[in-house]
Order: sequence, then C-alpha cells, then structure tokens
Amino acid sequence: MRVLLIEDEKKVASFIRRGLKEKGFAVDVVHDGEKGLFSAEINPYDLIILDIMLPGKDGIFICRQLRKKNIVTPILMLTARDDVEDKVSGLDSGADDYLTKPFEFAEFLARVRALTRRKGSPKITTLRVANLKLDQVTHKVTRAGKEIDLTATEYSLLEYLMLNANQVVTRTMISEHVWSEDFDSFSNVINVYVNYVRKKVDAGFSEPLIHSIRGTGYILKG
Ligand code: CA
Repeated sequence: MRVLLIEDEKKVASFIRRGLKEKGFAVDVVHDGEKGLFSAEINPYDLIILDIMLPGKDGIFICRQLRKKNIVTPILMLTARDDVEDKVSGLDSGADDYLTKPFEFAEFLARVRALTRRKGSPKITTLRVANLKLDQVTHKVTRAGKEIDLTATEYSLLEYLMLNANQVVTRTMISEHVWSEDFDSFSNVINVYVNYVRKKVDAGFSEPLIHSIRGTGYILKG
C-alpha cells in the first residue's frame, strides 16, 4: 500500500512516516499544500493523509480539488483542533475520515486500515489464496497452517499480489503501490524481492502460487 502524507509539521510527519513504514506501507511525505495537490494528482495512491492547516493550499481546498477531478482515493484528514466546524467542512469537502491531533498511533492505524481495506468487502481483513492466508491486522502469514516470516517490504509486496490475485500485476503497478517515490524503478529491486517472497511462500510446496509472466510481471494464483 502506498500512502501520500501531506503534513507541514515535520515532527508529526516523521512520526507517522516511521510508524507506517514499520507496518509495511510505502510513504511519500510532502510538507506544503501546493506540492501535495500535485503529487496526489499524478500518483495512484492507496490512501492520502491530509492535514487541514497547510502552507500553500489548505487541506479542505486540496480535498475538494481532488474530488472535483474524480480522484476517489480514500482521504484521512488531520487537524490540530477538535473543532466541529472543521470536522464538518472536512467531511463535506469529500474526506472519508477525520482525526484530531494529538492521537494515539494505534487509533490512527486502525483508521488507516479501515480506509485501505479491499473495496466492496469492508469487513474482510484476511486474504486467502489456496492454502495461503494473510491477516491484514496482525500481519500474520501462513501457508497450509505453517507461519511464514516476512520483512515489512516482503509483507507489503505479498499483500499487493494477494489483493490482485488471479490478475497479472506489472512491475510498474508494484513500484507504484509497494514502494515510495524515492524508489529507483530502473533497478532490479522488484525482481529481487519477488524472489525472496517466492522462496518463502512456495518453498517445499509442489504447487507454486507466484508465477512470472515473461516481460510483464507476476501473477499470484492457486
Ligand atoms: Ca498543519
């Protein structure tokens, strides 16, 4: 999952970024409204975390602009004040959820999870393909009941493949949803990580779940 964080308070931004990265999210951080709006328009994010009070353009304006352009990425708004008026105008501008600073990271993460769940099945937090199971809350991954130990990036990659099971996933799609902006898409990092994940998921099983599609990308199916 790739997240855009638009937050001018550097301390808050680095706290959020660190926490999300530990949970396997790829995070791009922007500190002003103008750049934030630009990034949100050109990249296919899975979630936008948007502070209301920003230099340049404020969060309400950014949210309205994105919705006007039919960008439907879930938006979680942040504000420093527990102000009903802010809350109302935030939600009216098209935000999906709202959180007042300061907040507990656990609550923040629960809201992030709710907003990034698979569309159409909001209550499902366990992904399954054949005998492979991934729990999006605990990050526990098992195959045929046996636990698989993954790093944050490996988890994020496998989650993305499972969310798109039975479909070909291109390297571009993977680089846009699993890695953040500072990632060098010309490197062979994706191949390397897919191989790590494949070793862990498919080793010892006669039926592999992760397949390469020559020249295109990968497919996870069972
Ligand atoms: Ca602010």
